[in-house]
Amino acid sequence: MRILLVEDEPRMSGFIARGLREQAYAVDVAPDGESALERAASNDYDAVILDVMLPGISGIDVARRLRADGSDAPILMLTARDAIADRIAGLDGGADDYLIKPFDFGELLARLRALLRRKGEVQPGMLTVADLTLDTAKQDVRRAGKRIELTAKEYALLEFLARRAGAVVGRAEISEHVWDETYEPFSNTIEVYIKRLRRKIDDGHAVPLIQTRRGAGYSLGCRPADPSED
Ligand code: CA
Repeated sequence: MRILLVEDEPRMSGFIARGLREQAYAVDVAPDGESALERAASNDYDAVILDVMLPGISGIDVARRLRADGSDAPILMLTARDAIADRIAGLDGGADDYLIKPFDFGELLARLRALLRRKGEVQPGMLTVADLTLDTAKQDVRRAGKRIELTAKEYALLEFLARRAGAVVGRAEISEHVWDETYEPFSNTIEVYIKRLRRKIDDGHAVPLIQTRRGAGYSLGCRPADPSED
């Protein structure tokens, strides 16, 4: 899940970005409306967290322009307690929900999950692929009942593949949704993470679940190996 966070106050954006990354989200931070619109034009974000009070273009205008440009990413607005007119204008302008500052970080996460669920990006509860289960709320991963410890990024990659189980997922799609804008397109980062996941998920099991489709990407599932592929 890749999130665009639009917030001009560095302490606030640092706090939110750090918290989201700990929860395995990839996060790009835009400090103003202009750069938010530029990033949204070139990346396919799963959700936008949008401060209303921004220098230059207001958050409300950012929401309107995103919708006018055809973006359907869920938008969570951050507003001040007394800014009722802003909340109404923001919701009318295309925002999906709002959160009043100061807010509890747990509530921000819950609202974000609810928005992603509404968009159909996240199934609630459990994902199951053969004998592999992911509890997406707790980020608890088990294979054949045995708990597997993953880092936030390893988990994010596995969940991304699990939500598309059986389908071949390309590296571009993976980098777009699991990594942020610091991702180096010609690096072997994804291969490195796939290798780590294989070690943790497949080692010691008769049936490997992580498949490489040469030249196309990866898929999660117990499709029998094609001898022409890795
Ligand atoms: Ca602000």
